[in-house]
Amino acid sequence: MFEVSFIPSFKDNYIWLLTQGQRAFVVDPGDAAPVLARLEADDLKLEGILITHHHADHQGGVAELKARYQAEVFAPAEESITGCTRPLCGGECIDVLGQTMRVLAVPGHTLGHLAYHAPGMLFCGDTLFGAGCGRLFEGTPAQMAASLESIAALPNETLIYCAHEYTEMNLRFALAVEPENPALQQRVAKVAALRAAGLPSVPSTLAEEKATNPFLRCAEPVVIAAGIQNAAVDHSKTAIFAAIRAWRNVF
Ligand code: ZN
Ligand code: FE
Repeated sequence: MFEVSFIPSFKDNYIWLLTQGQRAFVVDPGDAAPVLARLEADDLKLEGILITHHHADHQGGVAELKARYQAEVFAPAEESITGCTRPLCGGECIDVLGQTMRVLAVPGHTLGHLAYHAPGMLFCGDTLFGAGCGRLFEGTPAQMAASLESIAALPNETLIYCAHEYTEMNLRFALAVEPENPALQQRVAKVAALRAAGLPSVPSTLAEEKATNPFLRCAEPVVIAAGIQNAAVDHSKTAIFAAIRAWRNVF
């Protein structure tokens, strides 16, 4: 199995670096410069790029990296991605540094959004965040709720490698939804300590997200009540999700 580390970029993006010896893949290189610097410093050869969705902060570095390394570019078939060589729709299995990864279609933030799953880890772009989820730029609440449900069905110990350091901000909202949730209060303290030490708050585990992320807790009585207070049309998971997501947008 490859090793995972991160390359910080822009204000709060994480570009995940997968390495097996000197062979490398990156996930969502929005900017080529920090990736090139790391590849050169560690004497790595970039063999492939995994793209979750078309936003510039996730694919902006592809052209330059591909020109330098002739890397394969795995990306959503339905989205406009510079230099895509392996268009994907979800459901495929791909080889990443000798490891089989499963491609999941997780529409919502964008319509072609993909996540990449290997045993014990998920690279999910802007779908699921630490204690939060992506904005619905293109998809419907029903699509995003279904995407989050398919992620929630993975094993609890799965590490959630999302693309942004948004956890502290998301936790403030999560506490507004569930002020009495002890797992949430513990996570607030843990994340504050990590960030104060200059460390990332991610990856989390799926178990942690299920215990603290309001968008994975739309069947919990307290979250349902918060959804109803925020104009949910009924008690269904999708309606509660839609109401909580709309509240988050104005929080
Ligand atoms: Zn995005
Ligand atoms: Fe993003």
